[in-house]
Amino acid sequence: MAKLISGKEVSAKVRAQVREECEGLKAKGICPGLAVIIVGNDPASRVYVNNKKKACAEVGFVSEEYALPEETTQEELLELIRTLNNKPEINGILCQLPLPAHLDEKEVINAIDPIKDVDAFHPSNVGRIMIGDYHFLPCTPAGVMEMIHNENIDVSGKNCVVIGRSNIVGKPMAMLLLHENGTVTICHSRTKNLKEICACADILVAAVGRPKFVTADMVKPGAVVLDVGINRDENGKLCGDVDFENVEPKASYITPVPGGVGPMTIAMLMKNTLMAAKLQANA
Ligand code: NAD
Repeated sequence: MAKLISGKEVSAKVRAQVREECEGLKAKGICPGLAVIIVGNDPASRVYVNNKKKACAEVGFVSEEYALPEETTQEELLELIRTLNNKPEINGILCQLPLPAHLDEKEVINAIDPIKDVDAFHPSNVGRIMIGDYHFLPCTPAGVMEMIHNENIDVSGKNCVVIGRSNIVGKPMAMLLLHENGTVTICHSRTKNLKEICACADILVAAVGRPKFVTADMVKPGAVVLDVGINRDENGKLCGDVDFENVEPKASYITPVPGGVGPMTIAMLMKNTLMAAKLQANA
């Protein structure tokens, strides 16, 4: 039976640390502030934005929401970002993705001042992660690493396999495991022998976006299995990329969905916002 790594518990620990540090900053007259921009009416984005605002209130940050209509133009959005870049009370700027199709996400990300880019999506922050000299880490992969650290799992020398190569999860995830001296393989939709490669993994991260994609025959006995996926199964129930029921008996550690990596992402966003406030105040 695998040990369950609870994202609820680990994220609560992270948020408590952030809250404590925030109190210390406030005593010095510094109050971290996060601006969250949402364009349009995507219901999932609305839920994420509400959760981010709630998390800000819980740790003691100021949060500002900018809810823009679906028909917002690229220039209007860029103008808002420029205003927020210059607003001293705002330390972090987050533009909830995906944006409506007529908007250019790349240009929007590039417009955010890298020192306020608490999602760590700006090319300058991505480059800093590559060379291992960074202030911010992308929230989801950083959350996975936090879970690994919380269990004192040593990555060094381990075979680490990441399934998925997206810019926001798969690629940075692989880089963070590499920074900790893992021997890292990235698998993707064109990978041959996926099952064999996964079955050699001591640490397996699934970031595919397909329900129950990782089956028990893909998992080495005793592996650490981290499930980033958020999907709906055939009954509309929330599930991850891992066939939890059949993989769990084989793994040494496993993250559930829901209650696994999901809650970590927002906790790490709070950590990045705190870091942004400290950097901007030279605290
Ligand atoms: P994405 O669609 O951008 O990337 C999916 C990756 O999976 C691609 O790189 C693709 O090559 C790979 N893939 C697809 N089919 C494959 C196959 N048959 N074999 C091997 N690889 C295959 O998705 P993403 O943004 O990286 O997100 C992945 C999952 O993680 C989604 O379920 C998403 O909802 C979830 N997610 C969760 C959080 C969180 O907070 N827990 C955050 C971001 C994403």
